[in-house]
Amino acid sequence: MLKKLFLAVIFLATLSQTHAEPLIKAETFTLKNGLQFFLLVNKRAPIVFYSTWFKVGSADEVPGKTGLAHYLEHLMETGLPEVQMGQFLEDFQSSGSHSNAITTRDHTYYYKTMMTDHLELLMRYEAGRMRGVAFNQTKFDTEKNVILEERLMRTETNPDEYFNEKFNNVFFSVHPYKNPIIGWEKDIRGLTLDDVKAFHKKWYQPNNAYIIVSGDFDPAQVKIWAEKYYGDLPVGEKVQRQRPQEPLKKAKVAPVVVEHPKVAQLSISEIYPLPDLKKSNYQDMLALILLAEFLEGDFQGSLYEVLVHQKKWVSSFASSSAFFSERDPWSFAFYVKPTPDAKWEDIEAAIHQKLKQIAQKGVKQDDLKRARHYVYNELVMSLDDIYQKAILLGDVLSSDVTLDQLNALPTDLEKVTSKDIQRVIKTYLQPEKAVVGVLKKGQSVGASKEKAQ
Ligand SMILES: [Zn+2]
Repeated sequence: MLKKLFLAVIFLATLSQTHAEPLIKAETFTLKNGLQFFLLVNKRAPIVFYSTWFKVGSADEVPGKTGLAHYLEHLMETGLPEVQMGQFLEDFQSSGSHSNAITTRDHTYYYKTMMTDHLELLMRYEAGRMRGVAFNQTKFDTEKNVILEERLMRTETNPDEYFNEKFNNVFFSVHPYKNPIIGWEKDIRGLTLDDVKAFHKKWYQPNNAYIIVSGDFDPAQVKIWAEKYYGDLPVGEKVQRQRPQEPLKKAKVAPVVVEHPKVAQLSISEIYPLPDLKKSNYQDMLALILLAEFLEGDFQGSLYEVLVHQKKWVSSFASSSAFFSERDPWSFAFYVKPTPDAKWEDIEAAIHQKLKQIAQKGVKQDDLKRARHYVYNELVMSLDDIYQKAILLGDVLSSDVTLDQLNALPTDLEKVTSKDIQRVIKTYLQPEKAVVGVLKKGQSVGASKEKAQ
């Protein structure tokens, strides 16, 4: 115990010294057409991570056309001007480079990690995403089967993804987060090549994108190539991300119980809906981030300690807020895996009891400090590698938080007081607002009508 405390003190001292340094030091510039660049130089190895981010994800699709963002991502690679770039692709593949594309609810990004000496060619190739992409009907048709197969595989083999799909569809009444990223099967079947072309034209414009380059490169040279390969791209029509927002007052939602044959252990979540705090009440958002860290920390008085160590009712416990990975801040969540003899009613009562206790008595200064350290720790760890650092920045930017806000996070978190924590519990975490989700083992894939046990 003593040793642990001592280490904590050293860690604290180191952290407060590093506050003067920004978490992410980036050189940024914007081309005339609106395309933004973020350059994160790290000379440790002659490798560069190059990523192109479009501010569009599944939550920007319209009803009946779900799955479009992901469909376009599938077609993108094959639609780029491979003919001129044949040599580049050959070099690229033989040099042990890594390449991938990801579609989320809020963004779509493409990345390649490669030796720095391929950087100019790579930029020429990547600029193709915003110009003359050659889509063709044959490829579109074959890819539809690939995507339908991918959807089936996820439902069959991944109970967590299957649960999320069912749960989100109930939890959200109107917000497009209610739809799965991959899309509903019926919608995917109905999508046409024209849908994909129109989606690309609308969203894949330089003024709706940003590029993050991380690793060993010369920023002045990258600026010249940026101008050369992207500078002539015309500005696209300005797009508005119009997403229907959830009503603040909703009727109580019954537990969502989902069965899947591949479930190894029962898991239960309790999720509280939140308003858009990022814009309306940033201070409350910070207080909820600290509260989540405090509750799941492994130290005396935390909810983790009560449920896992004292009562032994759960084998795992987590609380979270997805503020920095989702554009619309939408929930505060508890996740538990109960032990075989434990009752959910008892676990739930303990969660509510703890929230009530903190709302009345507040949090000790030391516990607030510990919670801050958990946040820093996670952040600092992800800043160690050129890939994770770029992904963290990309996620944060697409969630509508700026680089300055991210860099101010350590200082801003210092300002959160116990009173703030008490206030956010009273304002947002009333038990009657929560929606419970249960994922249990069943004979077949499906949703059960049973009550949560
Ligand atoms: Zn896919």
